[in-house]
Amino acid sequence: MSRNKLIVQKYGGSSIGNIGRIKKVAQRVYSYWKRGAKLVVVVSAMGDTTDKLIHLAEKINPCPSERELDMLLSTGEQISSALLAMALHKKGIPAVSFTGPQVGIITDKFHTQAKILKIEAERIKSALKEGKVVVVAGFQGQTTEREIATLGRGGSDLSAVALAGALKANLCEIYTDVEGIYTADPRIVKKAKKLSCISFDEMLELASRGAQVMQTRAVEVAKKYNIKLVVRSSFSNKEGTIIMRERPLIEEPVVRGITLTEKEAKITICKVPDKPGMAAKIFEELSSKNINIDMIVQNVSHQRITDISFTIEKSQAPKALEATKKVVKNIGAGSVLYDEDVAKVSIVGIGMKAHSGVAYKMFKALARAKINIEMISTSEISISCVVRKKQGKLAVKALHKAFNL
Ligand code: ADP
Ligand code: ASP
Ligand code: MG
Repeated sequence: MSRNKLIVQKYGGSSIGNIGRIKKVAQRVYSYWKRGAKLVVVVSAMGDTTDKLIHLAEKINPCPSERELDMLLSTGEQISSALLAMALHKKGIPAVSFTGPQVGIITDKFHTQAKILKIEAERIKSALKEGKVVVVAGFQGQTTEREIATLGRGGSDLSAVALAGALKANLCEIYTDVEGIYTADPRIVKKAKKLSCISFDEMLELASRGAQVMQTRAVEVAKKYNIKLVVRSSFSNKEGTIIMRERPLIEEPVVRGITLTEKEAKITICKVPDKPGMAAKIFEELSSKNINIDMIVQNVSHQRITDISFTIEKSQAPKALEATKKVVKNIGAGSVLYDEDVAKVSIVGIGMKAHSGVAYKMFKALARAKINIEMISTSEISISCVVRKKQGKLAVKALHKAFNL
């Protein structure tokens, strides 16, 4: 069945968390290879290696050079790719491991969050032609100045999808530690249901609202190149979730999934002069530092003075605070408040486009659970609320129940 099909497989950290698991992955790769598939296998770093490396760096310097951080973080994936190639050799499979730079993944210069500009895939193509299984260290590439750059947390998903696009693969399989995409994180909601398929748009919204199971940018690329994508478990042979352009139009559920993220923090700038150009100045400074802003709320102005709050990824907090403090000085605003004890809970579903009363139902469910809403943002197919961090999981459970998922 797989004969001559080109398949890109990606194995996440827990799927290759120890030697036993790496051997299991080698066994799965073997079963595809035996059936004649051509394989490119992208790996993440083993277990929580990346977190550990970040902690090491922070022990040396709380605000390490991003270039050096990338030098350090990229080693995690290099270790697992070499080990998997060795495990494949042991099974008699001709395999070769490469780093991102070695397989021509060219990125922009934004260390720790680099974007892929192009892939010069000749080296992979010739290794495949020689009959080899190609193992690629995920999460990394090389800038046009020949520096190593990483692709943002969860970036091995992006490596896999981008390679699948560049190589025109027949299928891209994302192997992880759950059996697919669920209506909510199955570790939080025990009754969450596995979805047999989901559209790119819904997956994009779930990912960008915090469903860690797929990196947002990977879903964007998969959508753009219409890559056949499946998310499934490396611990079982169960069918996973297919991510596709259009879901079959059966009954549209209003809400498809609930997400939670505790990775964001809230920054509030107090006493911003309420006059044209202030928001532009603030967000110009933040964007020049490549800081991604998520939600933004501006309060009602009193005596031509207002407060502006926004959320950012915690990992970008030192950079964001430095930029914010600089701009506060320039525009003559008041103080800067930083709050890490927040969580963002979201409901996502294409069916929301055609239904009214969804926001009301969400807010009512949160109110019943005695959860205060601090910020709200909406898109065509999602609504997000920022709440206290300690109430985040409770909020997910309450919403999962309220929307009968
Ligand atoms: P990997 O190391 O394989 O990349 P991740 O930890 O990045 O795995 O992503 C898998 C995790 O995503 C799961 O263990 C699960 O807890 C979490 N997750 C969050 N939301 C969802 C969801 N809607 N469906 C499935 N998993 C989810
Ligand atoms: N190892 C990297 C991370 O932990 C990349 C990945 O797992 O996809 O973010
Ligand atoms: Mg991941």
